[in-house]
Amino acid sequence: MKARPIIRLLTCGSVDDGKSTLIGRLLVETDSVPHDTLSTTKKVRRPGSIIPAGEIDFSLLTDGLEAEREQGITIDVAYRSMSLLDNRRLIIADAPGHEQYTRNMAVAASRADIALVLVDATRGIRPQTLRHLTICSLMGVEKIMVVINKLDAMNFDEGVYQSLIAELEPTINRLGIESISYIPVSALEGDNVVYKSDRVKWYSGGSLLDEIQNWREKPNTSGHSLSGHSRMGVQLISRAENFRGVSGTVSQGEFAVGDEVIVLPSQRKARVSRLASFGGDIEKAETGTAITMVLEPDIDATRGDFIERASDFTVPADRFSAHMVWLGEEELIHSRSYYLVNGSSMVPATVTTIRHRLDINNGEHESVRTLGMNEIGLVEIATDAPVPLTKYSENRNSGNFVLVDRVTLNTVGAGMVVHALRRATNITKHDYEINKAVRATQKSQRARVIWMTGLSGSGKSTIANALEKKLFAAGIHSYILDGDNLRLGLNKDLGFTKEDRAENVRRVAEVSKLMVDAGLVVIVALVSPFKVDRDHAREIFDPGEFVEVWVKTPAEVCAERDPKGLYKKAREGNLPNLTGVGQEYEPPTNAELVLDGTTDVSANVERLLKEIL
Ligand code: ADP
Repeated sequence: MKARPIIRLLTCGSVDDGKSTLIGRLLVETDSVPHDTLSTTKKVRRPGSIIPAGEIDFSLLTDGLEAEREQGITIDVAYRSMSLLDNRRLIIADAPGHEQYTRNMAVAASRADIALVLVDATRGIRPQTLRHLTICSLMGVEKIMVVINKLDAMNFDEGVYQSLIAELEPTINRLGIESISYIPVSALEGDNVVYKSDRVKWYSGGSLLDEIQNWREKPNTSGHSLSGHSRMGVQLISRAENFRGVSGTVSQGEFAVGDEVIVLPSQRKARVSRLASFGGDIEKAETGTAITMVLEPDIDATRGDFIERASDFTVPADRFSAHMVWLGEEELIHSRSYYLVNGSSMVPATVTTIRHRLDINNGEHESVRTLGMNEIGLVEIATDAPVPLTKYSENRNSGNFVLVDRVTLNTVGAGMVVHALRRATNITKHDYEINKAVRATQKSQRARVIWMTGLSGSGKSTIANALEKKLFAAGIHSYILDGDNLRLGLNKDLGFTKEDRAENVRRVAEVSKLMVDAGLVVIVALVSPFKVDRDHAREIFDPGEFVEVWVKTPAEVCAERDPKGLYKKAREGNLPNLTGVGQEYEPPTNAELVLDGTTDVSANVERLLKEIL
């Protein structure tokens, strides 16, 4: 089998473990560093450095990255490249080692062939080592090389090396890591990095570089050979005179002129009538080729869609079971909406259930309500629209995704699809003939939801009550969904944590949607303190149906009114999650109406009536 021309190597570990020295030495001793850069590393010294002047401080070669860290700049993965003896290229992904950068490590791991997991022999196995092994295994990295470093400081004692291996082995076995090697190294003194050391006579394997060069991918692995379907993510629609095509890069398989293809998730089919690349028209496009595909007929496709061959395609689904590495500083909130991103496709998605959290020390499954930063769990996720994701074990490209916070746009989770949930494909929406429009017309009204948000005591229920009386008198069919009242029944099981509030909003939004479908004017009086949750509620309605109303009353006024005695309880320390006191209120930024909750109720009602009638 032909060897892959590029090997992707991920390095896991921190600067303290000697990672930068290791990578630096690997690059220098293979002559992969420009000479002027090299001379700087002979002159410049870190404070307290033990390296004599005139010698290379290998760790300085990765210094740019550390400088970034000190300045608090977001650090991405740094990529370095070197050639191997047989002209293959080695791309080294250097993910910063600090715990808060697991994010970068996880993203890089999804593309890596080999992971170097660095162990500092002077400090032993640390939780981070186990976490790195777990993530690399979940992410399907084919080969793991455990580099046991700083052995010079331990007199190259075989006992130390063996006992570290013995400590790691239960985890390696439990994770089912098949291909593993252990390499005793001194990055500082150069033993077993590029050259085999004669100070470690008891070790029969090769140097780190030998091991990398000798590694061969498993034949027919699903990870990179990407067997199965052919796929292209649509990046843009190219238009010219009498020419319209979909452009993107073939991420796996190949496409040829004449192929029948399918656009996902819409599942519309067409035939490839032309394939244009930078150099002109081509007959066939292989993995990695950037192309514009002209389809016959010219069916609709948009950025973020996927094109696959119609004979073998990924059935889109909207429910998945997935392994999740949580990366956000704020914990995972189930029932909250995040963006799920795979390639250029992006859909809102909600983690509906956290099945368990994985204990990285012993593999046990713990029952939890949330996942904190760097924790790993099995979750169920529901997307707002079907997406063509495959099992990660079958394909790392189409089976992985990230979750992105909708406000900060930070990546907060890395996911690997275990499988699509069957119920996703067993449910079909049935369209009834008596629909929303017919029902609303019968009542001579426009169905709508008036969503009133604001602090407790701001006056939402008071306004809702006055408004409904007016509507009733005018013959308009309406219904009030009051937060407190719903908590007596439908939402009895929910508390006031962020995730329960998200679920509360989701349920009230779904009930409102049913009522709007029944042709009613729905008045919601619900604190609904978090913007993402309200925005997600808005999304399930047709444009114009969701009227967000912020009842804006200063917190001091609400606390003074205190009709339910909640502020008093909070002051006494007996109510931790009261909005505006123990938990924040995120004001709407795109509300249709802002009402001053301290003014006359009837004036506010008049303003609302104008919106409804
Ligand atoms: P919410 O439903 O937002 O929790 P409520 O409608 O129950 O708030 O109002 C809280 C208290 O404030 C009630 O005692 C109510 O009578 C009073 N209130 C409401 N609106 C006004 C207003 N515009 N001026 C004075 N008091 C008001």
